[in-house]
Amino acid sequence: MAIRKILHYGEPSLREVSKEVHKVSRKITDLVQDLLDTMYSQNGVGLAAPQIGENVRVFVIDVSTGNEPLNPMVFINPKIIKKSGAVKSNEGCLSFPEAYTDVKRYKNIMVKALNEHGKSFILEAKDGTLLSRAIQHENDHLDGILFIDHCINRFETENVLQKYNLPHLDPDLLLDEKELEDEISKND
Ligand code: ZN
Repeated sequence: MAIRKILHYGEPSLREVSKEVHKVSRKITDLVQDLLDTMYSQNGVGLAAPQIGENVRVFVIDVSTGNEPLNPMVFINPKIIKKSGAVKSNEGCLSFPEAYTDVKRYKNIMVKALNEHGKSFILEAKDGTLLSRAIQHENDHLDGILFIDHCINRFETENVLQKYNLPHLDPDLLLDEKELEDEISKND
């Protein structure tokens, strides 16, 4: 299919809430293929449809590394149905070239979604693995939430954004995650 242009932070559509998919049509499977092609072209771990300018509830993830075979995972209309624990996660995003910062995430999650064939599945990701954190990161994109909204230290994050000439942090969009914070500082 096609490698698409990835929208960068500052693009208003990254802040929009994406629409549910009503039917896993050819248009959606083509979109899935574009997401995978684009993600692999950038060596990314995940990519959500809004990042290529399509505000629909679809994202892809591949957490395989090195010589492991590719393992593309497709999530359509995902819902995180369980979450527990907390971890500190150092994250980046293809919409924030080169910028990484520490964020708060749940440790364990359970997600329900449709795959590229329109079949429903449930997946559990535990222990703050890359998969668990990537699902939370990509799922957020569908609600216009970005990883910096979960940042642990807003001053550090602001410095990183400035360093890479990205727009400022929006203090109004920072998430109140007291419970996650408390648990992370307990374990630190
Ligand atoms: Zn992202």
